[in-house]
Amino acid sequence: MMSLAKPIFLFAVLSLFGSSLGLAQEGSPAPRWFKGNLHAHSLWSDGDDYPEMVADRYRQRGYHFLVLSEHNVLSQGPRWMSVAAANKRSGQDGLTAYRKRFGEDWVETRTEKDDLQVRLKPLGEFRHHLEVSGGFLMIQGEEITDRSESRQVHYIATNLHELIKPQGGKTVRETMERNLAAVEEQAKRLGRPILAHHIHPNTGYSITGEEMAAVTRERYFEVASGHGGVNQLGDKTHVGIERMWDIINTIRIGEMNEAPARGLAADDSHNFFGMNNSVGRGWIMVRSVFLTPESIIKAIEAGDFYASTGVTLKELRYSPEASTLELEIEPQKETQYKTRFLGTRKGYNATREPVRDEKGKPLPVTQRYSEEVGRVLATVEGTKAVYRLTGDELYVRAVVEASRAPEKPTYQGQKAQAWTQPVGWKLSGDRNKERTGTLVDK
Ligand SMILES: [Zn+2]
Ligand SMILES: [Zn+2]
Repeated sequence: MMSLAKPIFLFAVLSLFGSSLGLAQEGSPAPRWFKGNLHAHSLWSDGDDYPEMVADRYRQRGYHFLVLSEHNVLSQGPRWMSVAAANKRSGQDGLTAYRKRFGEDWVETRTEKDDLQVRLKPLGEFRHHLEVSGGFLMIQGEEITDRSESRQVHYIATNLHELIKPQGGKTVRETMERNLAAVEEQAKRLGRPILAHHIHPNTGYSITGEEMAAVTRERYFEVASGHGGVNQLGDKTHVGIERMWDIINTIRIGEMNEAPARGLAADDSHNFFGMNNSVGRGWIMVRSVFLTPESIIKAIEAGDFYASTGVTLKELRYSPEASTLELEIEPQKETQYKTRFLGTRKGYNATREPVRDEKGKPLPVTQRYSEEVGRVLATVEGTKAVYRLTGDELYVRAVVEASRAPEKPTYQGQKAQAWTQPVGWKLSGDRNKERTGTLVDK
């Protein structure tokens, strides 16, 4: 196994020679692409490896930033865990691997009533041992893990400073509003950007497209997850997550004069050993000037990012002046690419039908919409694709699909993909702004 000192030394040398790694350059560097995962779990909640080990796995795979998003807890304060309990979770001797990687001087253990325990280090302690200026960044996060109407309402809050307790609510919608309001409140009070993104809306088929559309302060969600249980493709009565995205955006722009939602991909990794290791299933690429939480979030809020499960873009450009959405794919060996441009045109057929059970009773699921919602506007084969907007689109987005499976598939038949954000949308009046929201009932 590689020693910890080596990569740090390598990064330091590169920085000294004025690479694009950050501080060595004076003034503002040019924006560059940074790879990151905003959703992962360690032993601090229900993951199966030590937080430094998780972070190190991402760093070694070339990620630039990582959020450990534990369920309703920040990795702060004293915390000891039984080694037997930790090993039981992974089915592996995680402590030996941890010691081997970080050394005897780093790993802290104690014995309480014959139980060997290991200290889980807080983020504030271990980040300094792993971070590299311009090379690797840890951002504090939390998975706000809430429920309402027996349904899951989970958000990742990235770059929060204080724990946000699940806010609850009488309905799913109210619960969404209240948790997002709590994130906004902290961001405003502490003067720091905090990104909230909704995760796995199709887990247990918890959230409908109509609910997501209605809560307009919700701007980000996971269109792809590395977790196997998210019902990515839906089923007979439920829409798949990507289709839900088009439904949300069509309702928002076409009927509510509100901004669309943006799509992220993430691992939601809990397992880090052997075949179960889910590091590297889904991520975002963010075009940012600096590798700091503020710069990364600013770029995401400007829409300058895309989601990926294995397709990398060399170039991604939307020009409002030329009305073009353009991309170029970083080719991989023996792989073909197909880019579909999807969107909804103005004057689309807006009829919708509830999904019914055998007795004809409407089900509480996302309704059925016409094919004109999120239709394919153009398909391009090859590594370069351009779409020229005609002006009658409510929005356009691109999805690139490779002819091969991702390195670590999440579901059967999956292909490596990349998703760009909706562009070309305009709101009328004073609604053409980034953040819109409805008031929360207090
Ligand atoms: Zn969750
Ligand atoms: Zn999670």
